[in-house]
Amino acid sequence: MNELLIFLGPPGAGKGTQAKKLCSDRSLTQLSTGDMLRSHVKRGTELGVEAKKIMDRGELVSDDIIVGMVRDELSNASDGGARFLFDGFPRTTAQAEALDNLLASMNTGLDAVLLLEVNEEEVIQRLLKRAELEGRSDDNEETIRNRMSVYKSQTAPLIEYYDNKGLLKRVDGQGTIDDVYARLSGHFA
Ligand code: ADP
Repeated sequence: MNELLIFLGPPGAGKGTQAKKLCSDRSLTQLSTGDMLRSHVKRGTELGVEAKKIMDRGELVSDDIIVGMVRDELSNASDGGARFLFDGFPRTTAQAEALDNLLASMNTGLDAVLLLEVNEEEVIQRLLKRAELEGRSDDNEETIRNRMSVYKSQTAPLIEYYDNKGLLKRVDGQGTIDDVYARLSGHFA
């Protein structure tokens, strides 16, 4: 059985953490474009070298590159069932439209878009803390503020895009990891 979900929300909302739990409970494959890019950076591929400069500024990697990466991953999906959770993708309207087309060509479509809502000051505090703990090179204050502003201008319009399609489910992302997961799972009960 196909199941296709999207996690939407600002950087630092906890998408990755919640996605891991949901994927393990529902046997979905987590498709994180951020993780895919970081893997390119680590392997030192040509794409990785270019992407790192963009990521360290808090800007978005080009839609063509991102859509190409996602297309490759989806083409590996078995015929029996496409079961994916998109984390950090789509991030622009162009990416959302490209995803609609990719899924249509596979004769499938999205089941739900989960919006993890956390206020701006809270996510900035969380990202600054992650910077101390993990030392991700895009987790410094200047880049964090830029990622927030890119989110607001380029990604937040997707909230309305998916709401208009009747797919949007809002989840309060404040509180402990378990609190948030309980609210999230409520949408699948
Ligand atoms: P976060 O959600 O914490 O900002 P991600 O790991 O999702 O982090 O992404 C890190 C960076 O990777 C982004 O700031 C951006 O530069 C790049 N990136 C990830 N996904 C996309 C995407 N779908 N489109 C464009 N750029 C992306």
